Amino acid sequence: MLDNGKPRVGIFGLTGCAGDQLQILNCEDELLRLAESINIVDWVMVKSDNDGNCRLDIAFVEGVVATELDLEILKRTKFLVAMGTCAVWGGLPAMRNDLCREVLERETCESVSTVVDTIEALPPTHFVPFEFLLPGCPIERQEFLATVNSLLFGTVPELPAIPVCWECKAQENTCRVISHREVCCGAMTRGGCGARCPSHGVACAGCRGPVEEPNYDANITMFADRGISWMEISERMRDFSAPVWMRMGLEEVIDDER
Ligand code: SF4
Ligand code: SF4
Repeated sequence: MLDNGKPRVGIFGLTGCAGDQLQILNCEDELLRLAESINIVDWVMVKSDNDGNCRLDIAFVEGVVATELDLEILKRTKFLVAMGTCAVWGGLPAMRNDLCREVLERETCESVSTVVDTIEALPPTHFVPFEFLLPGCPIERQEFLATVNSLLFGTVPELPAIPVCWECKAQENTCRVISHREVCCGAMTRGGCGARCPSHGVACAGCRGPVEEPNYDANITMFADRGISWMEISERMRDFSAPVWMRMGLEEVIDDER
């Protein structure tokens, strides 16, 4: 399926904010260089002449599956790369799964004439196998470029497996938990962002999803030992990574401790 030796690539946004596609656009000069190595045949956000039917060598997918239409896009290729925490773990859109459908429609669709029929918001990785997962809300540009380069050279892209805390210590930041008594999710969250938030004086909200085997009990005990209320702990931990953290057992830990 190569066109003049270039793989046919599609970039798709399912239900989400398009932030990961914007990150690709922000690659600017690098993006031009990339366009010489790959043939982007379908990218609705950027091009008007898209081939919506051809089979693809690689599809980059962001967002969650929340409508039947989203599912169709996943059939375009067997080589799928998930971009962003929504596509990898469910992210912010999946937080709506716990809300009552009637309340959701009343609060969000009051002034809209047509309400799209939605299904439970789940990451595309729930429906089909993905070859590679790029977490982040949004993704890191350098990780995207490194991934494409690896795929072009036929190697397996490697992402850091360290937690955000490791990067935070390397930056010599003051710890938000120890010095500021804040709920910081750095120890449970996969690094790769360079501890961006703590480096700017803000606690990590866990946007890159969990590290392998996060120790929820130890983290919650650490927060509680510093006098942080259960209400605050549970509210702070219901953001970006909440859907997957809850599925992985965090909810039981919070309920048991409360
Ligand atoms: S501020 Fe957050 S990321 Fe940094 S060391 Fe403390 S817990 Fe870890
Ligand atoms: S510090 Fe945490 S919330 Fe901030 S960008 Fe990194 S993973 Fe995301």
